[in-house]
Amino acid sequence: MRNKQQYYTDNEAKNLICEIGRRVYNKNFVAANDGNISIKVGPNTIWATPTGVSKGFMTPDMMVKMDLEGNVISGEMKPSSEVKMHLRVYNENPEVNAVVHAHPPVATSFAIAGVSLDKPISPEAVVLLGTVPVAPYATPGTQEVPDSIAPFCKDYNAVLLANHGALTWGSDIIQAYFRMESLEHYALMLMYSNNIINKANELNPTQISDLINIRKSMGIQTGGVPQSSLDAQRSKILNNKEEMIEHIVRKVTEEVVNQLMKENN
Ligand SMILES: [Zn+2]
Repeated sequence: MRNKQQYYTDNEAKNLICEIGRRVYNKNFVAANDGNISIKVGPNTIWATPTGVSKGFMTPDMMVKMDLEGNVISGEMKPSSEVKMHLRVYNENPEVNAVVHAHPPVATSFAIAGVSLDKPISPEAVVLLGTVPVAPYATPGTQEVPDSIAPFCKDYNAVLLANHGALTWGSDIIQAYFRMESLEHYALMLMYSNNIINKANELNPTQISDLINIRKSMGIQTGGVPQSSLDAQRSKILNNKEEMIEHIVRKVTEEVVNQLMKENN
């Protein structure tokens, strides 16, 4: 991992994008020409994948250099329309130095169902990835897409795009890519445990807060906190209790008022 002030050189960034592209393609996180990858090489510049090429077969000369407003600085090919999402993440969160977008099939199925990845079932998912919310559906290529992810860029490390795919980011490209791997792995475990084995022993609130402390000690402030269903049950019981007390108070008040009216008549 690079230290905070140091960026990859142009050549390093272009080569790394090709390498990560091959991995994303070989792991079946994308099909055909899907997905895109970008790396920041200066406070206001990135290298990004071009439109219309398979991520598994890229060469460094295909890459496009852009500023954070989306103007092309160099490169022969056209940038992908989905680069707007990447630019938005960089603009919303200056700590981000790399963004990966893919359509990993299990996580994308959760995105299609509109179900966020937030069950506390895996310590690694809590520490290294965090919870993954679902951004509302937006037509691909339009300004609605970056607008839909904007609220999540600062507090989370990844987001599912409804009926579309997933987006991860990080302080460098390896972290952003590993978060994509963790995201698909986490989605796969959620699917097996909740929908195939039909049983998942969730981490309890103490175990979750221990993990959040480990995450903080690693310098990660983002990622959200998964909600233990024990907590959810407890708040449901509390709500029920409050409702019951309210009901009793209402009944007693009615009774007293009735009694008083009778006495007055
Ligand atoms: Zn896409």
